[in-house]
Amino acid sequence: MVNKSKRAIVTGGSRGIGRAIVKELAARNCSGILFSDIVFVDNSCDECVEEIQKEVDNLGTKIYGFKADASSFADAQATIDEAIKNMGGVDILVNNAGITRDNLLLRMSEKEFDDVININLKSVFNYTKAVLRPMIQQKYGRIINIASVVGIIGNAGQANYSASKAGVIGFTKSTAREVASRGITVNAVAPGFIETHMTAKLNDKQREALLNNIPLNRLGTPEDVAKVVGFLSSDEAAYITGQVIAVDGGMTM
Ligand code: NAP
Repeated sequence: MVNKSKRAIVTGGSRGIGRAIVKELAARNCSGILFSDIVFVDNSCDECVEEIQKEVDNLGTKIYGFKADASSFADAQATIDEAIKNMGGVDILVNNAGITRDNLLLRMSEKEFDDVININLKSVFNYTKAVLRPMIQQKYGRIINIASVVGIIGNAGQANYSASKAGVIGFTKSTAREVASRGITVNAVAPGFIETHMTAKLNDKQREALLNNIPLNRLGTPEDVAKVVGFLSSDEAAYITGQVIAVDGGMTM
């Protein structure tokens, strides 16, 4: 029987991998989960929160939604404050919010570069910094950053995205070293190609080419990623920190 005592924040949790993570954490050890997302306009987040709450209702987890731009330092602090107000603290932080703005470097605009770095990498700094003090005070924390295999092997047309995810990996390892003595673990999960809104733009030819490079011969599901995040967030993973776990069907072995 799982002791449901943990409180979590998931950035970009309204859909895709983030939403699967919210559901996985609810199924595991979380009594409360706050997901922040830019998708909420004014106070119209209620519908999305209600929908996710319904999906996890039988698990005894309370879901909270909060409108925040992950690239904003001030929004990150406001999110942590809101989580502490509603749930009494934060034990698990999943930095999941992310975007792509793909282009060959010759054509890539400054805005395409900056947007990806700010939303994928600076967001990880924003939220980790905001959550660190309360985690240090309680001498416990699990931080899981969603990177990508292209942060390890690169990908033509994704110089901005690959740089942001390689940055997330470096940030994960440095932070893990800084806070290990405080009972906090920091790990990264590096998904390969996962069936979400982000990969929906691939045409059949691109899909086939991808499959040729995936030994398990299928794209991953958001749940494939969420299961690993769930494990890293648990007490079973207490002796794992500073690691990058690829969930990629064998693409990068
Ligand atoms: P997705 O379906 O596009 O979902 C991304 C989520 O992030 C959405 O909820 C989105 O909100 C939110 N978001 C975007 N910009 C934001 C901002 N400025 N502030 C707060 N939230 C924001 O993508 P996904 O595939 O689930 O990706 C989740 C994570 O996995 C990302 O970090 C991505 O880089 C990583 N990843 C994905 C794959 C893949 O193949 N799908 C592979 C490797 C890594 P809106 O709904 O408002 O857009």
